[in-house]
Amino acid sequence: MGPGPSNVPPRVLRAMSRPLVGHLDPEFVEVMNEIQELLRRVFQTGNSFTIPLSGTGTAGMEASVANFVEEGESVLIGVNGVFGQRIAEMVRRHGGICTVVSAPFGEPLSRKAMLEAAQKCQPSIIAVVHAETSTGVLQPLEPIREICDRFDSLLLVDAVTSLGGHPVKVDSWGIDICYSGTQKCLSCPPGLSPITLSPKAEAKLKTRTSPCRSWYLDLNLIRSYWGEDRVYHHTAPISMNYALCEALNIIVEEGLEERFNRHRQNHKALVAGIEGMGLQMQVDPDYRLWSLNTVRIPAGVDDGKVRSQLLSQFNLEIGGGLGDLKGKVWRVGLMGENSQAQNVLYFLFALENCLRRQGFHCSQGAGVEAATECYNAPGSLAASREFTA
Ligand SMILES: *Cc1c(COP(=O)(O)O)cnc(C)c1O
Repeated sequence: MGPGPSNVPPRVLRAMSRPLVGHLDPEFVEVMNEIQELLRRVFQTGNSFTIPLSGTGTAGMEASVANFVEEGESVLIGVNGVFGQRIAEMVRRHGGICTVVSAPFGEPLSRKAMLEAAQKCQPSIIAVVHAETSTGVLQPLEPIREICDRFDSLLLVDAVTSLGGHPVKVDSWGIDICYSGTQKCLSCPPGLSPITLSPKAEAKLKTRTSPCRSWYLDLNLIRSYWGEDRVYHHTAPISMNYALCEALNIIVEEGLEERFNRHRQNHKALVAGIEGMGLQMQVDPDYRLWSLNTVRIPAGVDDGKVRSQLLSQFNLEIGGGLGDLKGKVWRVGLMGENSQAQNVLYFLFALENCLRRQGFHCSQGAGVEAATECYNAPGSLAASREFTA
């Protein structure tokens, strides 16, 4: 229950153990086609350029920057966490002119500040992180899209921790460049980075004046492998693609709406339990991620001791805070496969035990009871569902 990687269903692990075929084998080409089709459903897009890049989520980030930011290009980046900072650093390294609008860690971006900055810097790209895994904030994208429309900017979105857990509506939200990673809400091992490009972004790619400085992540070259031509570019990680194909099939079998609903309800139960124990969430209710929950560490409680007891005694991993939130919050992942009622209840039970050892007082079983009430409320999932058979 950390900030990723999440647990992987046995079906996905089994898919990885299938015998290898060549990366141009007709059988593998069929898997490639199936993955592209399934990714379009999960990204809710008709974009023809929708593929998994070889590499973790950061490869998707680097590909987005390396291919779309040319020397001297103005880029506006909303930074309210570690991953926004990483995008900004990449833009600088690739020769872009970077304008950063910051918000405190744990808060969403200010629409007004983004608009004012865009007026000044006239960006050709505006980049934001949809789900900031370092803080637990869900960034609303519609206001950012409106700003993009005013300045004819491309909208670049990091959906690493939202895809497969929260709706990511690439087409209806007008996202031009969107990437994710396999090991968060898709519940697949780390190693691939799904990415999709709008027709407008694809057109820009074709009219670059200089070749992309990264050869490995050059999307024009990679397109020739994943498109009709099937030209060798690099050897696709075959087993990882088998895994992703299976993980996406599991998602489609469950149904996107059902899956989002499951993530929302388990998040709600976790919050009820946390508050029932007398603890507080870090993020304002309107901007909370369902997949990554930041819980304030109460005064007098030792962050490291609680996390190591959770791991050694309860076999349960959670994350610590990053950047400005280091030592101040815990990050509890409910991503993909891990978003289960049994995990929520077990975590609350285990956390109470660890907090007691630290001398923090809460009435016995209060967290579990509050979460249980939440599950039993009319209209909610009565019990966890098992998708791993
Ligand atoms: C995990 C994560 C990344 C980086 O992905 P890696 O797979 O670690 O390379 C980027 N952005 C966000 C929001 C993430 O949560």
